[in-house]
Amino acid sequence: MTEWLMTDLHIHTTLSDGTIPIEEVVKIYGEAGFDAIGITDHLFDTQSPRGLELYSEGKSIKDLKSYFQRIEEVSRWAKESYDLLVIPGLEICNLVEDYHILGIDLKEGVNPNQNTEGVIEEIHRQGGLAIASHPHLKLSYFMPGNNISIQRHPFHLWKHRERYSQKLDAWEIANGEDLFTAVSLEHLPFVGNSDFHERHHLTSWKSLIHAEKEKETLKQAILQRKLSLFFFNENGSKGKRVQAKVFHEETDPVEQKGGEGKGKVLIVDDERDLVGMLAYNLGKKGYQISTAYNGRSQNDEELKMLGMIYDSSVRLTGWVDVLLNLRDR
Ligand SMILES: [Zn+2]
Ligand SMILES: [Zn+2]
Repeated sequence: MTEWLMTDLHIHTTLSDGTIPIEEVVKIYGEAGFDAIGITDHLFDTQSPRGLELYSEGKSIKDLKSYFQRIEEVSRWAKESYDLLVIPGLEICNLVEDYHILGIDLKEGVNPNQNTEGVIEEIHRQGGLAIASHPHLKLSYFMPGNNISIQRHPFHLWKHRERYSQKLDAWEIANGEDLFTAVSLEHLPFVGNSDFHERHHLTSWKSLIHAEKEKETLKQAILQRKLSLFFFNENGSKGKRVQAKVFHEETDPVEQKGGEGKGKVLIVDDERDLVGMLAYNLGKKGYQISTAYNGRSQNDEELKMLGMIYDSSVRLTGWVDVLLNLRDR
């Protein structure tokens, strides 16, 4: 029977960096009345030092065979207990290539040490769907001024969206509490998911998918865009996320003037959201900020600036250090 299924296809458990064991995840979603969920624990590359670090911290799946076995066992119990369809998957993350890709309905591992095309092909060979994870900035993450997470945010898929629009099966236009309007305007096939890591992440964007409660028609429905976003609000999202309020209390981050003692900084990048977030964070640290969106817009005034951050590829590695060095000079 075709019906509107309540789904969430991006969920992490203690099998990677989630805080809730898979059985408990099934219980939470089953009791909340969901029809289908995807378990997509992290599989990081082993090419980058940070990737290796994540393995040693237990934030990447260690044993793929037992991972898929565990999901298989749990899915049988989920079906019997809650009539919940559990779909095995992975979030394949490569910090060198700079992508996070969801593989939905997989049978085995995918090599994370390869380029985007390779990952998509491997997912398709297994009959799975390849979906772009949080292709745009996750602002809810960055509001607390978490510069490390801005620095590490994967942008490769979005930067090269023309190349991948024919290859990826769908794009997350909503993730957690974030909506990626810029992505939705591309009119690509889309999904909304929680990126569940903690209990309170149940309150987040999800997808209603018009399909039968069965993997193949569900995947087809995503491809055919028989899908609608919805925000699942459990008990009114109680008592968290004060950051958004703090953000709105500030003046416009781009206009913001810093304290007397700090220098001026010109931020140049073509990703306007990113420029805005950097301006906001640096402004809070007391710097005077000027912004531009391409390399040609500097005028004499701006050239007198103390420091300039320019990175057309949006990898702002160590930008705080760059800034402080410039200031010392
Ligand atoms: Zn991710
Ligand atoms: Zn994730």
